[in-house]
Amino acid sequence: MSYAITPPSIPSLPIQGTEDLFPVRRVYCIGRNYAAHAVEMGHDPDKEPPFFFQKNPDNLDTSGSFPYPPQSEDVHHEVELAVALKSGGKNIPVDEALGHVFGYAVSLDMTRRDLQGEAKKMGRPWEIGKAFEASAPITPIVTAAECGHLSNGEIVLRVNDTVHQQGDLNQMIWKVPEMISYLSNYFELAAGDVILTGTPAGVGPVQRGDTMEAVITDLPALHVKVV
Ligand code: MN
Repeated sequence: MSYAITPPSIPSLPIQGTEDLFPVRRVYCIGRNYAAHAVEMGHDPDKEPPFFFQKNPDNLDTSGSFPYPPQSEDVHHEVELAVALKSGGKNIPVDEALGHVFGYAVSLDMTRRDLQGEAKKMGRPWEIGKAFEASAPITPIVTAAECGHLSNGEIVLRVNDTVHQQGDLNQMIWKVPEMISYLSNYFELAAGDVILTGTPAGVGPVQRGDTMEAVITDLPALHVKVV
């Protein structure tokens, strides 16, 4: 048997310090996971159950360029810690969750906010606002063996050298082990899954020509030019 068309390549991410690649299976994203960002989006930050949406594996982009997407005039940055899994399963207990983590990266959940806003208003799904081409710029993965498990440390996004987003990983409402456990009650997680863990306050628009710098303590910085 052979494929009727050429099979697409496997989306994959570099791993810092190695020649190996991390093959990506799925990309899950959590919404409103920092209280101050929930407030700025008009929501109560009390610990409601987390909610998730997905991006496509091939939306991850390590090129350093972000092509301004079509059909939007309000594209926002959201700096997020990305968690890459080396294994998975269903109904993972919180206290076993970190054992499934391969490593961490700095990412941006780029969002067509105008289209997302319309989708919210109409009760429609979010893909049109979230899951477009190159919508998830990301750094190489740093293995947990190298950086340890990240639960605190500064998370910052600068646009053209001005700080726009600033927070600390310890401000997450749902911590990394809790979100892995929660997700695994709804989906069967597996090696290759990547989770974007939500963004601190200060989201806002970018324009062509802007330079974004995303920084999380203990990880390489992410530099992305909007083109
Ligand atoms: Mn986000």
